[in-house]
Amino acid sequence: MISITEIKDFFKGKIALNERLAQYTTFRIGGEADYYIEPADAEDLLNMIKYLNKRGVPFYILGNGSNLLISDEGMRGVVINLETGFGYLKHDDGYILAGAGAKMARFVDFCIQNNFSGVEMLAGIPATIGGALYMNAGAYGGEIAAYVAEVQVIRNEQIKFLSKEQCGFAYRTSKLKDSIILQGKFILPEGNPAELSRIRKEITLKRNEVQPVEIPNAGCIFKNPKDNYAAKLIEECGLKGTSIGGAMISPKHANFIVNFDKASAGDVIELIKMVRTNVKCKTGILLELEVQLLGFEENILK
Ligand SMILES: Cc1cc2nc3c(=O)[nH]c(=O)nc-3n(C[C@H](O)[C@H](O)[C@H](O)COP(=O)(O)OP(=O)(O)OC[C@H]3O[C@@H](n4cnc5c(N)ncnc54)[C@H](O)[C@@H]3O)c2cc1C
Repeated sequence: MISITEIKDFFKGKIALNERLAQYTTFRIGGEADYYIEPADAEDLLNMIKYLNKRGVPFYILGNGSNLLISDEGMRGVVINLETGFGYLKHDDGYILAGAGAKMARFVDFCIQNNFSGVEMLAGIPATIGGALYMNAGAYGGEIAAYVAEVQVIRNEQIKFLSKEQCGFAYRTSKLKDSIILQGKFILPEGNPAELSRIRKEITLKRNEVQPVEIPNAGCIFKNPKDNYAAKLIEECGLKGTSIGGAMISPKHANFIVNFDKASAGDVIELIKMVRTNVKCKTGILLELEVQLLGFEENILK
């Protein structure tokens, strides 16, 4: 484990013990982390990573927790939140620099204010830039990867710059899994702020209509299978509105599970298993998880 006295010698950020993680997720589910830290800057984070590696302490990078299901037992080791030290947005000669902890809503606003187009269709995705890059978040035909010039990461205890190609972006995934994302550099086409604001508003209204945004959830639970839609398959199996404990397949959008009444992570896992079994049985398709699991045994879905 780690020694608070040793850390205080070099760590400038915030640290908390036995921090409840549910409050950092949009699902509002999850037990405690042994340690929770918010590093002050890249040097602070790098020093901490070197310390944790030396001690063999596991760590996990948290974004906005909008694509996460955390177990009721929480997570052993350290959970790292980059919101405080990496929440910056900067505009320079023809590009935008966004810190990994900056929220998508602010990023979209900032791009529009600076006459840059392209990311307005991502409005309403409750991500941080780090989480959006890691997952290659996308909506309404667009993906964040389209505008990435380079990504700054910590990899193998070194700060590195990765080209877009090195990031290996694909549908709701990337090759950034062994990296801590620090910031993204984006090059975007010019646009008209009034028109972009109109599109952003239209997309937000559309989302509110089709997604259960008023009840805690973690976005789409499953990836869309090739040439098909997970929501359509789940709906066709008659599963909309099915509940286990406090978790329910949203009657509004079948690929969302909502935490309608103090659901445990166990309730959600049971619902996921039930959906996968039903859909596989009726269509032959095994749905692949989009939501990331944290603190569970590897074979939890078996
Ligand atoms: C209501 C709602 C609507 C949504 N709509 C969409 C949508 O339209 N399109 C879409 O693509 N997604 C959508 N999502 C899902 C989610 O917002 C995205 O997957 C998003 O990219 C996750 O970002 P996050 O910051 O919340 O990451 P988290 O959920 O906190 O983390 C996701 C993964 O990214 C990793 N990660 C986060 N930050 C870093 C970092 N700095 N370095 C390395 N790894 C990191 C985490 O370790 C984890 O594995 C929706 C979710 C909700 C709740």
